[in-house]
Parts: sequence; C-alpha cells; structure tokens
Amino acid sequence: MAAQLIPITVAEGDGIGPEIMDATLRILKAAGAPLDIKNVEIGEKVYLSGQPTGIENSTWDLIRQSKALLKAPITTPQGGGFKSLNVTIRTTLGLYANVRPCVAYYPFVETKYPGMNVVIVRENEEDLYTGIEYRQTPDVYEALKLITRPGCEKIIRYAFEYAQIYHRKKVTCFTKDNILKLTDGLFHKIFDEIGAEYPQIEKEHWIVDIGAAKLADTPTAFDVIVMPNLYGDILSDVAAQIAGSVGLAGSANIGNSGAMFEAIHGSAPRRAGQNLANPSGLLLAAIQMLVHLEQSNLAELIHNAWLKTLEEGIHTYDIFKEKTSKQKVGTKEFANAVTARLGKKPETLPAAHYSTSFHIKHSNFSSLKNFKQELYGIDIFIKWSEDVETLATLLQSTSNHDLKLKMINNRGVKVWPNKMPETACIDNWRCRFISSTNKIVSQEQILNLLNRLVQKKLTLTQTAYLFAFDGQAGYTLAQDEQ
Ligand code: NAD
Repeated sequence: MAAQLIPITVAEGDGIGPEIMDATLRILKAAGAPLDIKNVEIGEKVYLSGQPTGIENSTWDLIRQSKALLKAPITTPQGGGFKSLNVTIRTTLGLYANVRPCVAYYPFVETKYPGMNVVIVRENEEDLYTGIEYRQTPDVYEALKLITRPGCEKIIRYAFEYAQIYHRKKVTCFTKDNILKLTDGLFHKIFDEIGAEYPQIEKEHWIVDIGAAKLADTPTAFDVIVMPNLYGDILSDVAAQIAGSVGLAGSANIGNSGAMFEAIHGSAPRRAGQNLANPSGLLLAAIQMLVHLEQSNLAELIHNAWLKTLEEGIHTYDIFKEKTSKQKVGTKEFANAVTARLGKKPETLPAAHYSTSFHIKHSNFSSLKNFKQELYGIDIFIKWSEDVETLATLLQSTSNHDLKLKMINNRGVKVWPNKMPETACIDNWRCRFISSTNKIVSQEQILNLLNRLVQKKLTLTQTAYLFAFDGQAGYTLAQDEQ
C-alpha cells in the first residue's frame, strides 16, 4: 500500500529563493519524502500585483490546511512598503518558538570555533516585532516593546523541553533586565521560575551585551540560549556566521497547531539567478520539518548525506576555501552531490541521529487574573517647545487635589522639579500626575484632567495609565520617585 502523503505548502520566495527551494525539493524527492506539496505564492510578487499584505486570503487557508510551510526567504522593503511577511506569518499563525541551531563543521568548513554547537531559541511573537510604532511630534518616534507572561512562559518552557529531549546540558537566558526592568525583568523572572522545574539542566543568565560578546568570543561556552525576539534575531545571525556561514543555518518556527521552516538568511538579491547560493540553510530547515512530521529516518538519511558532502569538500562559494575545500560547485551541483550520497554517513563529523520521540510538549501558560489592579494616576506626553518651568506652572494650574503633577521627564530623565542645566531636552515631555490624597483614582478623574489640559490648548501626544498590581507599581519610577 502506498504511504500516506503528508500535505505541506511550499513558498519559493524571492531572490535566491526559487533556486535553493528547487535544490531542496529535489533532495527531498530523491530521498522518497512522502510529501503532498502545494505551491503558494507569497512576498514581493504578490505585493507588486496589488495585494498590500503580500499574501492572498486563500493562501492562508492552504497553509492552515497543511501540516507545515516550507518557505524560502522573502524580500522585505526597508523603512517603508509592506510589513515583513515573515513576521506576519509567524505571529498570525501563532508560531511562537523559533529554533535556530548554529553548528561548526570543522575542519571541513572554516571557522574560528571548532566544536561550536549552539541552539538559539528565539521568542517569535512579541517584543519590538509587534511593529507598533508611532511618530509623536515632528522629532519624536516611538516603538512599543511588548512582553507578556504567557509569551515568556511558552518560549522558556519550549527551550527547556527542547534541551531535555535533545539531551542538552545547559539553558542560558539573555536579557537586558538591568535597564528594562519590567519587560526583560519578566522574561528573566519566568526563566528562573520555569528553570526550577528542570533540576537536571544547568541554568544561567547573562545581560545580553556581555552575553553577546561572550558568544562571539567563546561560543563553545553555550548550549541552548533562550532570548526575547530582537536579541534572538540578531544573535542567531551572529552565531550562524561565526559557526561558518549564514548560508548554513536553518530554522523552525513552531506553534501549537502549525509550523513553518526556513533558512535564517535572507533573499540575497545580489546572488539571485546565478546558480551560486548555498541551499544548505533551507535544506537543514527541511530536515527540521521532517523531524516535526515524524519522518525522523528520512531526516537522518538526508542530514547524513549532506554532512558527507561537506566532508568531501564539495562546497558552494560562500564556504569554499582553498585550504579546506576540494570542489567549488553551484546550487544545482551541490544538490546533486547530496542526492548522490543518500545512504552514506559522515566519517569524521558526528552523524545525525533523530528519533520519533523528538516531540516537544506545548505548555499551558498561566494568566494572573486574580491580581488587584488599581489606577494610581497617568503619564501624559505633551508636545511643548518652551522651557520646562513654564510647562510645569501651566500644568500645576490644571491640577486639583485629586491629581497633582508629580514630575516631568524628558527622554527618560527627570527634568522637573530640579532640571540639571546639561540635560538636553526634545519637544515631547512625559508629565506624571498622581493622586496626592488616597492612592486610587477613577477614570473619570483622569478624563477631567485631560479635559482641563485640552482646554489649555496643550497638544497631548500620548497617555499611559499608571496601574499598581497588588499594590506594586506597574510602571518605572523616576530616579528619586518613591
Ligand atoms: P541576506 O541574508 O539575504 O544576504 C546577506 C549576504 O549573505 C548575501 O549578500 C550573501 O553574500 C550571503 N548569503 C545569504 N544567504 C546565502 C546563501 N544561501 N548562499 C550564499 N550566500 C548567502 O541579507 P540581506 O541582504 O540583509 O537581506 C536581503 C533581503 O532578505 C531583505 O529584503 C531582507 O528583508 C530579507 N530577509 C528575509 C528573511 C526571511 O525571509 N526569513 C530573513 C532575513 C532577511
């Protein structure tokens, strides 16, 4: 009886995408992967044909009906144009975990770090990648960094489950919680909470700047690293490049009910159409996909043939070195070489091994609904181009005994009361109003205050409620604020 075919969708992407996808699919086919492939068009071409999102509604249905999407890189316009479709796919389909193994293949691929084998588990739905940005005054732009408890719990548990299943010894967390005390602070706190459930796995936390320096200098000190979205995006490229080449890393984007697999690199438009690109990143992503589809034997077969090809020095231009390589090949020839080695195993590099038990549990996450949430006041951002003392006097005249002006802050620095002469200010001022009588205020009191400010012809550019949760401030305090 013929094997049941597994439905997948395939998007060949832009730039080098079609060439590396063709190479990857030819290898999968030669290995006998039981896939029912539906091609979908997404990205630049769809955008240019008049669909502003870069993806047709019917394409979403096809992706949702398939077990996985294998996607080649997509060109994303910079600084304008359509929103990154990669981010849209990850967030719309709830693909919260981005798993990016970065491995050195020394001595066959040149690297400064033989023995490097780091897996970066990047949070995929939150952080600055929500893309929520505002221009508040002619000079001031803002991006929202959004971090949630469920988001942190899901990704951190995924990282520990991954480490456990793949027999990894250590999970490291990178954050910037010395500065971002609430957002990155939450990520770190949940890392500690969930980490305690995995006593057999070593745990450590690094501030991301020095952690990144350590990763670039001594990557062998790391095993699995879990990070918020932006740090994970940047550092997985760094890790892949220092392992050998960005062209060698694949990634899995996993959600509760869907999955997408892609190379970590982009569409490299300058290399497109020349049969030059290395298809390895997409091929390794396809191998991750086969593991996800419980085709571990096939994943192993293809991965080992690929390792053997590297060992024999058959290399594309990006990893070709006179010293370590034997034959410089194009995309197609590289795929042919891998296909010819199906059934062979590497002799020096460790052979790949996958098991059908490599399935990662999706966590149930908690939501802290029982907290007492109380309103203490409001931060109002005001556009103002004169001096701060005049602004403070005007604002004090609008305050009443319910809500009093507590401080004015400019780009995070307190400038009233007691502005230092050196502090450079721009035309957007954060003005904090807090109740001076009892701590809790009503939304009505806040609306009345806003009304009084509008009557003074002030331009309000943004407002943020100041909540406390079980009596603990849910906002950052100014330098000397109690
Ligand atoms: P890039 O990764 O496309 O290319 C940077 C350089 O890396 C290339 O010039 C090339 O020298 C090398 N390179 C990358 N992949 C290679 C491969 N497979 N084989 C050989 N060499 C390779 O980065 P970029 O130039 O910054 O981005 C180009 C476009 O890709 C942009 O529009 C960007 O938004 C998009 N992008 C898409 C994805 C995605 O679809 N997931 C990811 C990153 C960037």
